[in-house]
Formats: sequence, structure tokens, C-alpha cells
Amino acid sequence: MKIPFGKLEIESFNSEAACLELIAAQKWADGYKCRKCGHENYCKGKTPFSRRCTRCKHEESATSHTIFHHCRIDLPEAFRMVYMVCSDPAISSYELSRQMEIRQMTCWKLKNKLLECLEKKGQIDLLFEPEKKEGPAEN
Ligand SMILES: [Zn+2]
Repeated sequence: MKIPFGKLEIESFNSEAACLELIAAQKWADGYKCRKCGHENYCKGKTPFSRRCTRCKHEESATSHTIFHHCRIDLPEAFRMVYMVCSDPAISSYELSRQMEIRQMTCWKLKNKLLECLEKKGQIDLLFEPEKKEGPAEN
């Protein structure tokens, strides 16, 4: 399956910033537009690679409205998991958990989002927004 990182190697996404940069680049590939008011000018937001509308001050992080929203693991690990699921969609969350040394429930959640994306779009898309909400107050 096509891996949604272009031709770049997974190894190059070894820092939070490298991952955020790629997500932001994909997200705003067609330019920025405020989701609240539609304004097209922005300045830098508080967090790395976030953007803030210069009109209504609405701030959007690079990961909001993407598959990594509310993701509780570091982005380089999340990218690795995307890579592993792309390579083998049948991999179990237990196997992911074992290989990545991340809690099985955490793996299960992200894998479910990836599978939902696959089901609806036929491929993994970092900008996919899962419909299933994970409940409030998660950051
Ligand atoms: Zn705005």
C-alpha cells in the first residue's frame, strides 16, 4: 500500500518537528483558510507549525482535523505505526504494541482510525478526520 509520506523515508521523520512540518505542508497545501471565518491571512500560532487567523484570532494546530488529532503518542512513533499498518494492514494491535513498546490500547485506537480511513478512502490519508470521537478532554 502507498505510504502517505511521499517518497521520503520513514527514518527522516525522527522528530516531532519533522512530522509536524509534513502534516502542515499537506494540510495547507492549497493555502491557508481560516475554518472559523474563511480569512486567508495568518500568523504563527503558539505551538510549532500552528497557524493563527489574523482576523478572528482562531488558532489551528498542525494536527487538528487530521488523523493525529488527540493522538497520545509522539508523532515519530505515530508515523512509524502508520508505516507499519500500511505495510501490513492485517497486523494486530498486540503485535504493534509488542514491536513499538507502546500500550496495546493506544495502538488499537490509532490502528482503528487508520482502518476507518482505509475503509472510507481506500488509502491512508494523514488528513483524514475519523468520525468516531474519543470523548472530551483529551489532548
Ligand atoms: Zn478567522
